Amino acid sequence: MFVFTTKKSIEVYLNSQKESQKSIGFVPTMGALHQGHLSLVKEAQLKNDVVIVSIFVNPTQFNNQKDLENYPITLEEDTAMLKAINCTALFIPTVSEMYETTLTASSFYFDGLENVMEGEFRSGHFNGVGTIIKRFFEMLMPTRAYFGEKDFQQVAIVKKLVEKLSMPIEIVCCPVFREHDGLAMSSRNRLLSKDQRAAAPFIHEVLQHTKQRFKTQNISEINCWIESQFKTHSHLKLEYFCIANPLNLQEITSKKASKNHRAFIAVFAGEIRLIDTLAF
Ligand code: AMP
Repeated sequence: MFVFTTKKSIEVYLNSQKESQKSIGFVPTMGALHQGHLSLVKEAQLKNDVVIVSIFVNPTQFNNQKDLENYPITLEEDTAMLKAINCTALFIPTVSEMYETTLTASSFYFDGLENVMEGEFRSGHFNGVGTIIKRFFEMLMPTRAYFGEKDFQQVAIVKKLVEKLSMPIEIVCCPVFREHDGLAMSSRNRLLSKDQRAAAPFIHEVLQHTKQRFKTQNISEINCWIESQFKTHSHLKLEYFCIANPLNLQEITSKKASKNHRAFIAVFAGEIRLIDTLAF
């Protein structure tokens, strides 16, 4: 596996690949890799001649300094995991390589997709995401880029970004990869205490119950039920729950308002923030 740390070196490599008409699959990550990340890489390997994974903990998408400081970094294990599945190349740029002199995010308008849910509770988050993904895309110009449905709003934002910038990059959304007990895999899971980890599958459980309840209950009843589930929970604190139209991410308050529905949830286990989503 090739490992690149500079923009220049990866550009030279990619130019040679593109000259020989190779398709490029790109999987951006923040590292601390798990099987969810690898599922994206494996999906990319099915359709592309070359697969590039980036590991970059992007400072401008963190609204919480402590979250950034505590973000797990496991470069050696990550490299071994990618080698083991024959990933073609790993790109690990430094902050100055990606941001040069000014560590700031640009402002984006994603037609309102950026104002709800993660955008509402993590101020500036999607400006950071937009800035770094735009930079990676301009640098690498992949044929396809792979993202996880766990961050469904992020996928919608990235699709909007390439549409607005007319970038000829196919955005592929891959299913949520879960632990055996249903917990969505996340790099932050490794920061959970034993008790928090034992409690965390409850997040997926309540989403599954929501799906059942949706058949017979109205949305305000479901919202009340969810709140009651977390009110007295000893390890998990609800930040938000909503049922939204997956096309525009607007919360729906009546079943008739949309044909498609998706539940979104963000929960704190102590200081660790976990998100999940389920379509129904
Ligand atoms: P991150 O390193 O958390 O920024 O994630 C990098 C990519 O992997 C993003 O597109 C995520 O949505 C995706 N991803 C993270 N966790 C999972 C998971 N459990 N299943 C599938 N994709 C995931």
